[in-house]
Amino acid sequence: MDNKTYIPDEFIDDVASYIPAHLTMDDFIASCRKGLRRAIRVNTLKMSQQEFEHQAAQLHWHIEPIPWCEHGYWLTRPDEEEKNLPIGNTALHLSGCIYVQEASSMLPPMALATSLAPGDKVLDMAAAPGSKTSQLAALMDNQGILVANELSSSRLKTLAATLKRMGVANCALSHFDGQVFGDYMYESFDHILLDAPCSGEGTVRKDPDALKNWSLTSNQDIAEVQKTLIHSAFMALKPGGTLVYSTCTLTPLENQQICTHLLDTFAGDVEIMSLHELFPEANKAATEQGYLHVWPQIYDSEGFFIAKFRKTGSVVNSQQKKKKGQFPFSPCAKKDLQAFETSIKKQFGITALPGQLMSRDKELWLFPQSMETLQEKIKYSRIGIKVATTHKNGVKLEHEFATCLGHLAISNTFALNASQAKAYFQGQDIRLDSAGPAQGEVVLTLCGAPVGLGKWQKAKIKNKLPRDLVLNGQLITWV
Ligand code: SAM
Repeated sequence: MDNKTYIPDEFIDDVASYIPAHLTMDDFIASCRKGLRRAIRVNTLKMSQQEFEHQAAQLHWHIEPIPWCEHGYWLTRPDEEEKNLPIGNTALHLSGCIYVQEASSMLPPMALATSLAPGDKVLDMAAAPGSKTSQLAALMDNQGILVANELSSSRLKTLAATLKRMGVANCALSHFDGQVFGDYMYESFDHILLDAPCSGEGTVRKDPDALKNWSLTSNQDIAEVQKTLIHSAFMALKPGGTLVYSTCTLTPLENQQICTHLLDTFAGDVEIMSLHELFPEANKAATEQGYLHVWPQIYDSEGFFIAKFRKTGSVVNSQQKKKKGQFPFSPCAKKDLQAFETSIKKQFGITALPGQLMSRDKELWLFPQSMETLQEKIKYSRIGIKVATTHKNGVKLEHEFATCLGHLAISNTFALNASQAKAYFQGQDIRLDSAGPAQGEVVLTLCGAPVGLGKWQKAKIKNKLPRDLVLNGQLITWV
């Protein structure tokens, strides 16, 4: 019970005016003051669910499946480990095999996933820090195209770092107000997730100060932004496509009323896709309309709201716009392509890569397949992954080549043990008991997942972890 949680009286009065009849205010307030269970999601781009369950058992981690997300678990670690080692410094986390994500926040991608097909183009309109983007990428199995947009520059950096750690390769990042998509990317996406900026009323269990600046006026102001974003999202959706709208707040002003705004504005071209059967017991949170209004006391989670719509017909947009300026990438020159292909075949036995190799100056990038249909519509901060840089004697492979494609290597891989991994993430070279092959590069793995590159050097592996990713402090070993 956290009595420091700030819950203003006006907020309580407001909630009392719309809480459903089958729930009580006493239960609601008690849940708001209760700590949150830790939840994690297995990143299936890096580790199978089965392997995670095996490793969790070896670590004496207690895991309980989250009913709405096949790869999600509530997690309790042994007391001593919990006290001594932050979850972010565990091997499973550093290797990108797991992601700490609140259980209810796993719902929006799951709602979208029931409509996903191979090769789909998906937009995540308000994406940082990337919990749902990385979940979507895993659900898409790194195939198709995932455009992840974020307005805040600092949060965009966090988003990029999340996607690198999680081995996401099918993503293009952009840095715009989500309002632009309807005009610049009119009817371009098969699915859109709008996990909207909101007043965050559902997050008090994680942040006792979440309601410090709460006011009805601020809810109303945010609702206006949400209306412009959902309008833009609907315009950017292809006819037949699906839109998931979600928030981590409870007020109908930012939830049901935004949905009503969409339904009224595009009457005849939009229909609700009911979520009441999304998972067993979804009906406990389902509203009459088919939305999920997740109150914290229902599943002992954060508060959330999720709605899903299908666009049934094309809608006119007379404001369509075209990007100006040159596209800075071109298909990779034959000579560079050959040098790169020879290098990865010789060193790692990799003969085919998913996607298209493009170049910008000396950089080689691997774009998601079919990116040409979207690449010139807006300016991206980055597209796909940077795999190598060319120089006069050949190519230099990049960190992301290893984290995103290292699982394809059939030779020159090296599994780090706990103390070697600690050295690696602290930027040190890795000492070996005996000399390695003495030349060329090596994909380093941790928990079976690729984490980066090293270079064989007699009795050590030279550390090639980018300096900005070097960690300080306690890592991996906790006793
Ligand atoms: N989907 C994210 C995740 O699961 O990790 C959380 C998104 S958070 C609820 C909303 C995000 O929208 C914030 O990162 C915020 O910076 C961003 N944002 C705020 N206004 C925006 C706008 N007009 N267009 C796009 N993004 C916006």
